Amino acid sequence: MKIPLIFLGTSQAIPTAKRNHTAMLLQYKNENILIDCGEGTQRQFRKAKINPGKVNRILISHWHGDHVLGLPGLFQTLVLSNYNKKMYIYGPKKTKIFIKQLIRPFIPVLKFKIEVSNVSGKFLETSDFYIEAFSLKHGPPCNAYSFVEKDKIRIDKKKLKKLKIPPSPLLSKLQQGKNIKYKGKIIKAKYITYKEKGKKITIILDTALTENCYKAAKNADLLIAEATYANEEKQLAKEYKHLTAAQAAIIAKKSKVKKLILTHISQRYQKNEKILLKQARKIFPKTEIAEDLDKIEV
Ligand SMILES: [Zn+2]
Ligand SMILES: [Zn+2]
Repeated sequence: MKIPLIFLGTSQAIPTAKRNHTAMLLQYKNENILIDCGEGTQRQFRKAKINPGKVNRILISHWHGDHVLGLPGLFQTLVLSNYNKKMYIYGPKKTKIFIKQLIRPFIPVLKFKIEVSNVSGKFLETSDFYIEAFSLKHGPPCNAYSFVEKDKIRIDKKKLKKLKIPPSPLLSKLQQGKNIKYKGKIIKAKYITYKEKGKKITIILDTALTENCYKAAKNADLLIAEATYANEEKQLAKEYKHLTAAQAAIIAKKSKVKKLILTHISQRYQKNEKILLKQARKIFPKTEIAEDLDKIEV
């Protein structure tokens, strides 16, 4: 199963005509997980032809305006459209307080339920996936997030056909790793099933290069990483605790990820974004730069 991911906004602190403030949407079965919600995110949803009312979880990387200022507007729209799900919101330290402060002036009575949690480590687990937070090194507390799909046991359909086993509860036994007896014959689960590796997607937004970047991204199928600066501005990256494109590539390489997508692109490179791509690809060739409304599948 492919996991769709939509880049709703890809800019650094100052948005441009081409790039909106940071937000992305990860879709998995019934889950619509919004990661950050920069100003204007709800309009980006419209451009992407996705109903923002689908969102059921919000992950916040950190409390800088370019990552959260879209929340009051989004919430107002949800209220006006009679959103009736429970919204789960996760973020680093102080998220619980900050959500209240940001939403209440505009929406004194929130007409739908929200559950806000300050998170670190593994904080959400279902039968299909889990999400883990890793603290990064930025100004305010900041989290990287890894969405990890669990491995699945699949049945080899060709072998099933050959053995002429019809759909029955026997199949779920095999999926549980149990051997079965069919027409007097023992059929080993090991023979007829195989393991399908779950996907891993890691999102590293604003941070200086720190050990947890590698931990978060380890063996990911996709790493989405901020790349606010080029090598020429290395000193600024250090000062403002951001990554350069090359550092994002170093994380991808050392963590053995399959693909890297750069985001949180600065307006300073508006006319020369290729420089970021070039510097990253030198270290990690499988790198791309995200554009607003890009949809990819992992
Ligand atoms: Zn930012
Ligand atoms: Zn920031």
